[in-house]
Amino acid sequence: MTLGEFDLIDRLLKPLAQGFPGALNLADDAALIDLPPGRQLVVAKDAVVADVHFLADDPPDLVAGKLLRVNLSDLAAMGAEPLAYLTAIARPTSINDAWLQRFAAGLLADQQRFGCHLIGGDTTSTTGPLVLSLTILGTVPTGRALTRSGARPGEDVWVSGTLGDAAIGLRVLRGLAVTEDEALELVGRYRTPRPRLALGQSLRGLASSAIDVSDGLVADLGHICTESKVAAVVDASLLPFSEVARGVPGAREAALAGGDDYELLFTAPVAGRPAIEALAAQIGHGITRIGHIEQGAGVTVVEADGQPVALPRHGWRHF
Ligand SMILES: [Mg+2]
Repeated sequence: MTLGEFDLIDRLLKPLAQGFPGALNLADDAALIDLPPGRQLVVAKDAVVADVHFLADDPPDLVAGKLLRVNLSDLAAMGAEPLAYLTAIARPTSINDAWLQRFAAGLLADQQRFGCHLIGGDTTSTTGPLVLSLTILGTVPTGRALTRSGARPGEDVWVSGTLGDAAIGLRVLRGLAVTEDEALELVGRYRTPRPRLALGQSLRGLASSAIDVSDGLVADLGHICTESKVAAVVDASLLPFSEVARGVPGAREAALAGGDDYELLFTAPVAGRPAIEALAAQIGHGITRIGHIEQGAGVTVVEADGQPVALPRHGWRHF
């Protein structure tokens, strides 16, 4: 049996709106949001398509988690705090009620973890693949959001966590042989991003620009360079790798050009080094200085001796 749209909303989605009065129990045409004085709304949207952004046989609760987390990562990159979200689900007949139940359970677990609620959305059938779209709403103190346009020559380039694990995790799902423990860790990084919300909020006033690494380090640093009208130089010997990724052939390419890391990449004046190092000690994951900003345009990656590294491809292209 397949739930009709209204049953779907009643049974699976309304519980996700509990606790947010302005969601009006998903019974109205739209939701209402009051913002506290002195805060701006921050809005982002990401859509994922089966077999493009996730694998059709990925566990539904993890698909839900990834959908929410990639959007939360955009809030992190802006220095924002999560508030609420809206979903659109276009489902083919192959997606049954059990799949949707597990999907809703995944949303519930992660909205509780990250502190936000479902406040609206739409469901429809489709003759194409499963398409899941999510609009995230967050807030930031007015005028204090991080953007891509503030990087200046002489500043440092920093990145959180480790790079390349998710891209290698996708290779594991496609058949790359690793041990069971390694597979668990690497595939986990691909399926379950860790949005760096606490870091993003702490970087307000400290970072001059920020972006989350979704398309690959070189591509995303390129976005900062374009918007800030500067060049960036990355020292490949400083790239942060996990213990697991370090031993995998192709790890450096995965770190530079693989997508899906969802770490924060940011720039900051040299004077900010002690504060950023103190922050790394406080938040429980690494923050690594990997390069610097110069006058000019584009991203260059160099070896420790200054020789340029050839870049075979610049990140994941969606089209
Ligand atoms: Mg982003």
